[in-house]
Amino acid sequence: MYKIIQIPYDQIIEKIKTSTNISDTDIQAKIDDKLKQLSGLISKEGAAHIIANQLGVKLIEKTSGRLEIKNILSGMRDVETVGKIQAVYDIKEFTTTRGSGKVGSFMLGDETGVIRVVCWGSKAEEITNLQPTMIAKISNGYVKNNNNRLEVHLNDKSTITPNPEGETIGTVPEQTRTYSRKQVAQLSKEDVNSELVGTIVQVYDPHFFEICPTCNKRAKPENDQYVCQQHGAVTPTYSYVLNAFLDDGTGNIRITCFRNQATNLVGKTHEEFLTYRENPTTFEAVKTELLGNIVKFQGRVNHNEQFDRIEFVAELVHKDVNPEDELKKLQEQPAPAVAPLPETPATPEPAPTPEVTPEPAPTQEPTPTPVQEPTPPPAQTPEPVTPPVETPTEIPPEEQKQPEQEVIEENAS
Ligand SMILES: [Zn+2]
Repeated sequence: MYKIIQIPYDQIIEKIKTSTNISDTDIQAKIDDKLKQLSGLISKEGAAHIIANQLGVKLIEKTSGRLEIKNILSGMRDVETVGKIQAVYDIKEFTTTRGSGKVGSFMLGDETGVIRVVCWGSKAEEITNLQPTMIAKISNGYVKNNNNRLEVHLNDKSTITPNPEGETIGTVPEQTRTYSRKQVAQLSKEDVNSELVGTIVQVYDPHFFEICPTCNKRAKPENDQYVCQQHGAVTPTYSYVLNAFLDDGTGNIRITCFRNQATNLVGKTHEEFLTYRENPTTFEAVKTELLGNIVKFQGRVNHNEQFDRIEFVAELVHKDVNPEDELKKLQEQPAPAVAPLPETPATPEPAPTPEVTPEPAPTQEPTPTPVQEPTPPPAQTPEPVTPPVETPTEIPPEEQKQPEQEVIEENAS
């Protein structure tokens, strides 16, 4: 089966730059000219491709065989690569009308990047032999783009070689998380690593709570003092959570911003933010200023069981949003099936009364989970012989660097 190998735009530009020494601006001008010349009948990737060809720049050195991870591209077949295992996930069994099967996956990294390796059938069994930090060679894999993340898929014809002779791997770069753009109406309970852009339509008063100054975890009041589970009685410091409603035209959703994301959202320092605890009225001006702002949130969906609704926990907040760029970005993505508008009220729900009962923190802050088992990918549909169907694979729960480790517990007393 013929499949087009997709090279990301930025990679094309980079290749042109390094092989020709033409400046960014000049490359961009050439691409813009080409786009104009073809009056929009071509994508910018397509235009960049043409420019590269005209300049004699070879965009792909190899389309199969031994590759560094950064050179692996969607659509490649017979791919071989060697890397260090970063994580191994559980094997899942699945049943369909055509029978049952198994799928498992692991993360493989070399000096140039990290990629998910999805193993079907007999290959799934083999991942039980793999362990993090072990070097492994995979061969005869094929590459798929799953929600803008590349995966190498292995089947019965592929091989996994643990500890291949004579292979060493240097430092594996830290994985940077990528977020896929969603509309509010598209969000589902399980969404992680999603990105929303919309307008702030409501901001609530921040909720402050005591934390242990050593470990940043919740310190609970006990007999006139505050107690950290790990560090005993402590003189607490404060952390906080800020909730807001975001509307993107398809719906609105409650966004939860813990400490760093709360300060990012309001554009204040931690010290400044703490002053709102003692002078809550001064926060009114902040709220007013936030309303109507276009903000990009990256994070994950949380299902609030108490209210049976989904909310969004911000992991990153971006206020430098260019609405035009964002609109384009949305249009460039494969058109999603248009979900019906959720039955959201015309106006977001009224703010709770925090003075009487502090709003329970709806969720736990995303914390690094070194001790926890990584979440396995959800059951996938079995691999069809042809053509491969894009199946949703959960994003690997990579070691997210989160400076704060506060854990918000429910039943804030
Ligand atoms: Zn502590």
